[in-house]
Amino acid sequence: MVKRYIDRYERFLYSCSMAIIDGKAVAQELQNEFKQEISQMSGRPPCLAVILVGDSGPSRIYVNRKTKACEEVGIHSIKRHLKASVSEDELLKEIEHFNVNPQVDGILVQLPLPDHINTSRVMRWVNPEKDVDGFHPVNVGKMLIGETDGFFPCTPLGVKTLIEHTGIELPGKQVVIVGRSNIVGKPLAAMLLQRGQGIDATVTVAHRFSANLGEITRQADVLVVAIGVPHHISADMIKEGAVVIDVGINRIEDLARKSGARLVGDVDFEKAQDKCAFITPVPGGVGPMTIAMLLKNTLKSYHQR
Ligand code: NAP
Repeated sequence: MVKRYIDRYERFLYSCSMAIIDGKAVAQELQNEFKQEISQMSGRPPCLAVILVGDSGPSRIYVNRKTKACEEVGIHSIKRHLKASVSEDELLKEIEHFNVNPQVDGILVQLPLPDHINTSRVMRWVNPEKDVDGFHPVNVGKMLIGETDGFFPCTPLGVKTLIEHTGIELPGKQVVIVGRSNIVGKPLAAMLLQRGQGIDATVTVAHRFSANLGEITRQADVLVVAIGVPHHISADMIKEGAVVIDVGINRIEDLARKSGARLVGDVDFEKAQDKCAFITPVPGGVGPMTIAMLLKNTLKSYHQR
């Protein structure tokens, strides 16, 4: 009797944990593979140059996480910290220095940049062959026409990897992406639309002007949300058995915590999780994958030179 209860409890726990995609564990698994690969390489290690402009707290944290992850897998990183008042020309000069340095495989300019700097000009200045963030128009164009020798932007690439991880077969499935930014929604739509093994999805992109959002999201076998609005997607907007990937990172007030705040996604995780076949938590879902994909792109660039 007791054994039967324990068996049932274990099955219950197993089925619960099945539904939550542990992005941190998937990212760690990938990083272990990169580390193994790099440890067997001869010659110089791969190298990533990271440029941080100004003193924004979150940007500093992201840059530190990225350089720490590089260190952990054996990628050499160079960090340039420029003052918020740096001129656009000085910043471009700094990028140029890395563009022509044969020892540097990847260049990342941490966004956002101060208002006096033209971000799209800066993105275009990065050598597309070292653009491991995948934001240069050359890489965006390659992605759109289905060429694979360019760089795919890290967050959508991380989302695609997590979707693959669930084992869902995308051909014939409806994917709905809520959010159409240049760094998440649009590139992800382009990636999942491509012809090719395991892709071939039918993709719908929704945004602020989409009418009846719930009707659209309820069609989704795979729902990806990247809007930056806490808990905007409620359980009743999700199809039973869907795969849900929550890209949103929102800081909300939580007076029960020492910090007075906590991070939540764009999906109401607590209420939605029972309905989903798979769902990513926030934090610990897409975030760690973004960094793993940056390492992946840096390695790719290293191998291509
Ligand atoms: P963004 O540039 O602000 O774009 C937000 C998109 O969401 C826009 O297309 C906007 O529509 C749409 N949107 C906003 N409110 C909406 C609503 N009520 N209904 C439907 N669509 C709505 O944001 P982003 O850079 O893509 O980031 C989105 C979220 O993902 C943020 O929380 C960000 O912090 C997070 N993020 C996480 C990672 C990660 O590594 N985990 C990486 C990048 C971003 P319009 O175009 O019509 O304005």
